[in-house]
Amino acid sequence: MSRRLTVLIVLILVIAIAGGVTFLRGRLYVAEENVEVPQETKEIQLVAATVGTDLYAEARDQMVERGIVAYGIVSPDVIAVMRRVPRHQFIPEEYKHLAYENNPLPIGYGQTISQPYIVALMTQELDVEAGDKVLEIGTGSGYQAAVLAELDIEVFTMEIIESLANEAGQRLKDLAYESIHVQNADGYFGWPDEAPFDAIIVTAAPDHIPQPLLQQLAIGGVLVIPVGPVGGVQELWRVTRVSLDEFQSASLGGVRFVPFTRTLD
Ligand code: SAH
Repeated sequence: MSRRLTVLIVLILVIAIAGGVTFLRGRLYVAEENVEVPQETKEIQLVAATVGTDLYAEARDQMVERGIVAYGIVSPDVIAVMRRVPRHQFIPEEYKHLAYENNPLPIGYGQTISQPYIVALMTQELDVEAGDKVLEIGTGSGYQAAVLAELDIEVFTMEIIESLANEAGQRLKDLAYESIHVQNADGYFGWPDEAPFDAIIVTAAPDHIPQPLLQQLAIGGVLVIPVGPVGGVQELWRVTRVSLDEFQSASLGGVRFVPFTRTLD
Protein backbone atom coordinates (compact mmCIF):
# COMPACT_ATOMS: atom_id res chain seq x y z
CA MET A 1 0.00 0.00 0.00
CA SER A 2 2.63 2.48 1.06
CA ARG A 3 4.67 1.44 -1.93
CA ARG A 4 1.76 2.27 -4.24
CA LEU A 5 1.38 5.60 -2.50
CA THR A 6 5.07 6.35 -3.03
CA VAL A 7 4.79 5.45 -6.71
CA LEU A 8 1.74 7.69 -7.01
CA ILE A 9 3.49 10.59 -5.27
CA VAL A 10 6.56 10.14 -7.46
CA LEU A 11 4.33 10.06 -10.54
CA ILE A 12 2.48 13.21 -9.46
CA LEU A 13 5.82 14.91 -8.80
CA VAL A 14 7.21 13.89 -12.21
CA ILE A 15 4.10 15.15 -13.97
CA ALA A 16 4.19 18.39 -11.98
CA ILE A 17 7.89 18.98 -12.72
CA ALA A 18 7.47 18.10 -16.39
CA GLY A 19 4.45 20.38 -16.65
CA GLY A 20 6.33 23.17 -14.92
CA VAL A 21 9.31 22.81 -17.19
CA THR A 22 7.09 22.71 -20.27
CA PHE A 23 5.24 25.77 -19.00
CA LEU A 24 8.51 27.58 -18.34
CA ARG A 25 9.92 26.53 -21.71
CA GLY A 26 6.76 27.81 -23.31
CA ARG A 27 7.24 31.12 -21.54
CA LEU A 28 10.89 31.19 -22.53
CA TYR A 29 10.03 30.32 -26.13
CA VAL A 30 7.46 33.09 -26.25
CA ALA A 31 9.93 35.45 -24.68
CA GLU A 32 12.63 34.44 -27.15
CA GLU A 33 10.22 34.68 -30.01
CA ASN A 34 9.40 38.20 -29.03
CA VAL A 35 13.04 39.11 -29.18
CA GLU A 36 13.81 36.99 -32.21
CA VAL A 37 11.06 38.16 -34.54
CA PRO A 38 12.48 41.53 -35.56
CA GLN A 39 15.93 39.95 -35.98
CA GLU A 40 14.56 37.18 -38.20
CA THR A 41 12.55 39.65 -40.24
CA LYS A 42 15.67 41.65 -40.82
CA GLU A 43 17.53 38.54 -41.92
CA ILE A 44 14.72 37.49 -44.24
CA GLN A 45 14.66 40.95 -45.79
CA LEU A 46 18.42 40.83 -46.23
CA VAL A 47 18.31 37.38 -47.84
CA ALA A 48 15.45 38.49 -50.09
CA ALA A 49 17.38 41.53 -51.21
CA THR A 50 20.45 39.43 -52.01
CA VAL A 51 18.42 36.79 -53.83
CA GLY A 52 16.64 39.60 -55.72
CA THR A 53 19.92 40.99 -56.98
CA ASP A 54 21.18 37.52 -57.87
CA LEU A 55 17.96 36.69 -59.69
CA TYR A 56 18.36 39.75 -61.91
CA ALA A 57 22.03 38.94 -62.58
CA GLU A 58 21.16 35.34 -63.44
CA ALA A 59 18.26 36.39 -65.66
CA ARG A 60 20.53 38.92 -67.37
CA ASP A 61 23.22 36.27 -67.98
CA GLN A 62 20.62 33.93 -69.48
CA MET A 63 19.26 36.70 -71.69
CA VAL A 64 22.79 37.43 -72.94
CA GLU A 65 23.51 33.74 -73.63
CA ARG A 66 20.22 32.88 -75.30
CA GLY A 67 19.30 36.15 -76.97
CA ILE A 68 22.63 37.76 -77.81
CA VAL A 69 25.53 35.28 -78.01
CA ALA A 70 23.31 32.55 -79.55
CA TYR A 71 22.17 35.04 -82.20
CA GLY A 72 25.69 35.80 -83.36
CA ILE A 73 26.93 38.81 -81.39
CA VAL A 74 30.68 38.24 -81.07
CA SER A 75 32.22 41.43 -79.65
CA PRO A 76 33.56 40.52 -76.17
CA ASP A 77 33.17 44.15 -75.05
CA VAL A 78 29.54 44.33 -76.15
CA ILE A 79 28.74 40.98 -74.54
CA ALA A 80 30.39 42.06 -71.27
CA VAL A 81 28.50 45.35 -71.24
CA MET A 82 25.16 43.66 -71.92
CA ARG A 83 25.83 41.44 -68.90
CA ARG A 84 26.51 44.51 -66.77
CA VAL A 85 23.92 47.21 -67.52
CA PRO A 86 20.84 46.80 -65.28
CA ARG A 87 18.08 46.94 -67.92
CA HIS A 88 15.40 46.59 -65.21
CA GLN A 89 16.34 50.08 -63.99
CA PHE A 90 15.23 51.55 -67.33
CA ILE A 91 11.80 49.92 -67.37
CA PRO A 92 8.51 51.04 -65.77
CA GLU A 93 7.56 49.18 -62.55
CA GLU A 94 4.76 47.14 -64.16
CA TYR A 95 7.10 45.60 -66.76
CA LYS A 96 10.20 45.06 -64.58
CA HIS A 97 9.56 41.31 -64.37
CA LEU A 98 9.98 41.18 -68.17
CA ALA A 99 13.21 43.19 -68.17
CA TYR A 100 15.37 40.21 -69.21
CA GLU A 101 13.08 38.78 -71.86
CA ASN A 102 14.58 39.47 -75.28
CA ASN A 103 11.77 41.88 -76.28
CA PRO A 104 11.09 45.58 -76.65
CA LEU A 105 8.92 46.97 -73.82
CA PRO A 106 6.71 50.06 -73.44
CA ILE A 107 8.30 53.06 -71.70
CA GLY A 108 5.28 55.39 -71.96
CA TYR A 109 4.33 58.09 -74.50
CA GLY A 110 3.82 55.37 -77.12
CA GLN A 111 7.58 54.62 -77.17
CA THR A 112 9.59 51.47 -76.43
CA ILE A 113 12.95 50.42 -75.05
CA SER A 114 14.55 48.37 -77.85
CA GLN A 115 15.01 44.61 -77.80
CA PRO A 116 18.34 43.72 -76.10
CA TYR A 117 19.57 41.82 -79.18
CA ILE A 118 19.03 44.91 -81.37
CA VAL A 119 20.85 47.11 -78.82
CA ALA A 120 23.78 44.67 -78.85
CA LEU A 121 23.79 44.41 -82.66
CA MET A 122 23.69 48.18 -83.22
CA THR A 123 26.36 48.74 -80.57
CA GLN A 124 28.62 46.13 -82.16
CA GLU A 125 28.10 47.61 -85.64
CA LEU A 126 29.08 51.11 -84.42
CA ASP A 127 32.57 49.68 -83.98
CA VAL A 128 33.49 52.19 -81.27
CA GLU A 129 36.39 52.20 -78.87
CA ALA A 130 37.02 53.78 -75.46
CA GLY A 131 37.33 57.55 -75.68
CA ASP A 132 35.11 57.88 -78.80
CA LYS A 133 32.34 60.43 -79.06
CA VAL A 134 28.93 59.10 -80.12
CA LEU A 135 25.65 60.81 -81.02
CA GLU A 136 22.39 58.96 -80.34
CA ILE A 137 19.05 60.09 -81.76
CA GLY A 138 16.17 58.73 -79.64
CA THR A 139 17.18 58.64 -75.96
CA GLY A 140 13.94 56.91 -74.89
CA SER A 141 14.67 55.21 -71.57
CA GLY A 142 18.41 55.97 -71.73
CA TYR A 143 19.34 52.26 -71.85
CA GLN A 144 21.22 52.34 -75.17
CA ALA A 145 23.08 55.44 -73.98
CA ALA A 146 24.07 53.60 -70.77
CA VAL A 147 25.34 50.62 -72.79
CA LEU A 148 27.56 53.00 -74.80
CA ALA A 149 28.72 54.87 -71.70
CA GLU A 150 29.84 51.58 -70.14
CA LEU A 151 32.17 51.17 -73.13
CA ASP A 152 33.86 54.42 -71.99
CA ILE A 153 32.20 56.41 -74.76
CA GLU A 154 31.15 60.05 -74.38
CA VAL A 155 27.49 60.01 -75.38
CA PHE A 156 25.40 62.90 -76.74
CA THR A 157 21.80 61.79 -76.90
CA MET A 158 18.74 63.63 -78.23
CA GLU A 159 15.08 62.97 -77.43
CA ILE A 160 12.14 64.75 -79.03
CA ILE A 161 9.63 64.02 -76.20
CA GLU A 162 10.38 66.40 -73.34
CA SER A 163 9.09 64.16 -70.51
CA LEU A 164 11.13 61.20 -71.75
CA ALA A 165 14.24 63.39 -72.09
CA ASN A 166 13.78 64.64 -68.50
CA GLU A 167 13.06 61.19 -67.07
CA ALA A 168 16.02 59.61 -68.86
CA GLY A 169 18.30 62.48 -67.80
CA GLN A 170 17.31 62.01 -64.15
CA ARG A 171 17.63 58.22 -64.33
CA LEU A 172 21.11 58.39 -65.88
CA LYS A 173 22.15 60.92 -63.24
CA ASP A 174 20.82 58.66 -60.43
CA LEU A 175 22.76 55.74 -61.92
CA ALA A 176 25.88 57.95 -62.02
CA TYR A 177 26.41 57.90 -65.80
CA GLU A 178 28.40 61.11 -65.99
CA SER A 179 29.56 60.86 -69.60
CA ILE A 180 26.04 61.06 -71.07
CA HIS A 181 24.58 64.40 -72.19
CA VAL A 182 20.82 64.50 -72.87
CA GLN A 183 19.15 67.17 -74.99
CA ASN A 184 15.41 67.59 -75.65
CA ALA A 185 15.30 68.44 -79.36
CA ASP A 186 14.48 67.12 -82.83
CA GLY A 187 17.49 64.96 -83.66
CA TYR A 188 17.07 65.44 -87.42
CA PHE A 189 19.60 68.27 -87.31
CA GLY A 190 22.04 66.40 -85.07
CA TRP A 191 24.17 68.20 -82.47
CA PRO A 192 26.39 70.47 -84.63
CA ASP A 193 28.21 72.07 -81.68
CA GLU A 194 29.66 68.69 -80.70
CA ALA A 195 30.36 67.34 -84.23
CA PRO A 196 32.20 65.47 -85.63
CA PHE A 197 31.17 62.16 -84.06
CA ASP A 198 33.04 58.86 -84.30
CA ALA A 199 29.67 57.15 -84.60
CA ILE A 200 25.98 58.04 -84.78
CA ILE A 201 23.15 55.70 -83.79
CA VAL A 202 19.51 56.38 -84.59
CA THR A 203 16.94 54.37 -82.60
CA ALA A 204 13.76 55.58 -84.33
CA ALA A 205 13.01 54.99 -88.02
CA PRO A 206 12.87 57.88 -90.54
CA ASP A 207 11.89 57.29 -94.18
CA HIS A 208 15.24 58.68 -95.37
CA ILE A 209 18.68 59.32 -93.87
CA PRO A 210 18.86 62.87 -92.45
CA GLN A 211 21.64 64.68 -94.34
CA PRO A 212 22.82 66.65 -91.28
CA LEU A 213 23.71 63.36 -89.55
CA LEU A 214 25.91 62.26 -92.46
CA GLN A 215 27.65 65.64 -92.36
CA GLN A 216 28.35 65.30 -88.62
CA LEU A 217 30.17 61.97 -89.02
CA ALA A 218 33.96 62.00 -88.68
CA ILE A 219 35.90 60.53 -91.63
CA GLY A 220 35.95 56.80 -90.94
CA GLY A 221 32.89 57.21 -88.68
CA VAL A 222 29.85 54.94 -88.80
CA LEU A 223 26.12 55.69 -88.81
CA VAL A 224 23.73 52.90 -87.81
CA ILE A 225 20.13 53.73 -88.71
CA PRO A 226 16.83 51.98 -89.49
CA VAL A 227 15.17 53.43 -92.60
CA GLY A 228 11.71 52.61 -93.92
CA PRO A 229 7.98 52.98 -93.67
CA VAL A 230 6.18 53.89 -90.43
CA GLY A 231 4.64 50.82 -88.77
CA GLY A 232 6.22 48.43 -91.28
CA VAL A 233 9.51 46.60 -91.51
CA GLN A 234 12.48 48.90 -91.97
CA GLU A 235 15.98 48.13 -93.12
CA LEU A 236 18.86 48.62 -90.71
CA TRP A 237 21.79 50.35 -92.44
CA ARG A 238 25.41 50.76 -91.54
CA VAL A 239 26.86 53.77 -93.36
CA THR A 240 30.61 54.46 -93.21
CA ARG A 241 32.03 57.86 -94.11
CA VAL A 242 35.01 56.85 -96.23
CA SER A 243 36.07 60.39 -97.17
CA LEU A 244 34.64 63.92 -97.07
CA ASP A 245 32.10 63.15 -99.78
CA GLU A 246 32.13 59.36 -100.05
CA PHE A 247 29.90 57.00 -98.04
CA GLN A 248 29.61 53.20 -98.13
CA SER A 249 26.48 51.46 -96.93
CA ALA A 250 25.64 47.90 -95.97
CA SER A 251 22.30 46.43 -94.99
CA LEU A 252 22.08 44.65 -91.64
CA GLY A 253 18.61 43.22 -92.25
CA GLY A 254 14.98 43.90 -91.39
CA VAL A 255 13.94 45.57 -88.13
CA ARG A 256 10.92 47.26 -86.54
CA PHE A 257 11.39 50.60 -84.85
CA VAL A 258 9.06 53.32 -83.58
CA PRO A 259 8.73 56.23 -86.05
CA PHE A 260 11.19 59.09 -86.28
CA THR A 261 8.93 62.09 -85.61
CA ARG A 262 9.47 65.75 -86.45
CA THR A 263 7.56 67.83 -83.91
CA LEU A 264 8.50 68.63 -80.33
CA ASP A 265 5.62 67.93 -77.89
N1 SAH B 1 17.30 54.13 -77.48
C1 SAH B 1 16.07 54.03 -76.74
C2 SAH B 1 14.94 53.54 -77.61
C3 SAH B 1 13.92 54.57 -77.66
S1 SAH B 1 12.64 54.41 -78.86
C4 SAH B 1 16.24 53.18 -75.48
O1 SAH B 1 17.32 52.58 -75.30
O2 SAH B 1 15.34 53.13 -74.67
C5 SAH B 1 13.02 55.79 -79.92
C6 SAH B 1 12.93 57.15 -79.32
O3 SAH B 1 13.19 58.07 -80.37
C7 SAH B 1 11.57 57.55 -78.74
O4 SAH B 1 11.71 57.88 -77.40
C8 SAH B 1 11.14 58.73 -79.61
O5 SAH B 1 10.45 59.72 -78.88
C9 SAH B 1 12.48 59.25 -80.10
N2 SAH B 1 12.43 60.06 -81.32
C10 SAH B 1 11.62 59.90 -82.41
N3 SAH B 1 11.87 60.86 -83.32
C11 SAH B 1 12.88 61.63 -82.81
C12 SAH B 1 13.58 62.78 -83.29
N4 SAH B 1 13.28 63.37 -84.46
N5 SAH B 1 14.54 63.32 -82.51
C13 SAH B 1 14.84 62.78 -81.31
N6 SAH B 1 14.21 61.70 -80.80
C14 SAH B 1 13.24 61.12 -81.54
